[in-house]
Amino acid sequence: MTQHILPNAMLGILGGGQLGRMFTMAARAMGYRVTVLDPDPDSPAGGLADVHICSKYDDPGALQMLVDTCAAVTTEFENVPAESMRFLQSRMRVSPSAECVAIAQDRIKEKRYISGAGLGVAPFLTIEKADDLAQDMSSHLPGILKIARLGYDGKGQIHVKTADEAKAAWEQMGSKACVLEKMLDLKIEISVIVTRSAATEGNTFPVAENQHESGILDISIVPARVPEAIAEQARQMALKLAQALDYIGVVAVEFFVLQDNTLLINEIAPRPHNSGHYTIDACLTSQFEQQVRAMCALPPGDTHLLSPVAMVNLLGDIWRDDEPAWDKLLSQPNAKLHLYGKREARIGRKMGHFTVLADNADSALQQAVALKDALKQ
Ligand code: ADP
Ligand code: MG
Repeated sequence: MTQHILPNAMLGILGGGQLGRMFTMAARAMGYRVTVLDPDPDSPAGGLADVHICSKYDDPGALQMLVDTCAAVTTEFENVPAESMRFLQSRMRVSPSAECVAIAQDRIKEKRYISGAGLGVAPFLTIEKADDLAQDMSSHLPGILKIARLGYDGKGQIHVKTADEAKAAWEQMGSKACVLEKMLDLKIEISVIVTRSAATEGNTFPVAENQHESGILDISIVPARVPEAIAEQARQMALKLAQALDYIGVVAVEFFVLQDNTLLINEIAPRPHNSGHYTIDACLTSQFEQQVRAMCALPPGDTHLLSPVAMVNLLGDIWRDDEPAWDKLLSQPNAKLHLYGKREARIGRKMGHFTVLADNADSALQQAVALKDALKQ
């Protein structure tokens, strides 16, 4: 049996963005110490951690320091250099594994893995080299050309209607490996977050319903307003995928629900996920505590939903010339504000989020939308 890691131990995390920050808060609340590796001197997590190693993710000295001082290491993002993950993994406890991160950071590997596990994905073609543009694309058009690596929040995606547009888009993306995905008529998007520790089956959080704006998550509503059979099927698919990967840690699985209720897996994230931020305020255990538990070989905590909830992302867009009207939000007793400590507000930048807890999901959503509008005034 893998040895438990207990409070007072030093836990390491690669990346000091908002996910690293919320991980750091959860770990420290439980009495663990935290080392953050992030090249940004002002990273959201760095200032809250016990130790901030301000270096690049492939700096040998920084990686060795994690090996020497931490009991285990995790990551808050999928684009950690594979070499760094492997270096750490050969010397210390790392979760998720380098292999799982490698799959999640490459859309081609990811889609092949998911279909190989017997789970549905959106129909896709791979375009890795110029010759691949000669394939018959007609059954995948209109579609979305997505860069295989380093895309996020809708970046690295171009909508295309014809083969010529696909060719131009591929060149525009630097002739890098891409997938062409058929544009689907989505009824709704949902996500499931799974936690697995060594020697546990794993558990799931309640299913979130996700609404996007310009490719970026805008609102999550929990419980998702889908029939229970669909929610249960999504949870089972997510667990099956995590088990196939022999995944240790927290993994988020994004789903498309088609008009006929078919469930397809869109993508996975090998870490806590924006659509799981609601767990901090509305679940017995948060997704960040789960990340701590999994890396410490402790069983996942209970994921029971304490209250229906809606989570709204706060993007830099609403800052304009001034701070948003926080007093409007803070005078609402059932709303919870989370800001990530980022100095500069930019369009599309995730600056924070808030949740609204209510008697039912519709009411939470309605109040959340009204509060979001009020913040802009
Ligand atoms: P990212 O890595 O940026 O999250 P996604 O592949 O999840 O990229 O795409 C972002 C959003 O774009 C999705 O959540 C969905 O709203 C929309 N989208 C992506 N692929 C498709 C598709 N094949 N058909 C319809 N909508 C899509
Ligand atoms: Mg996505």
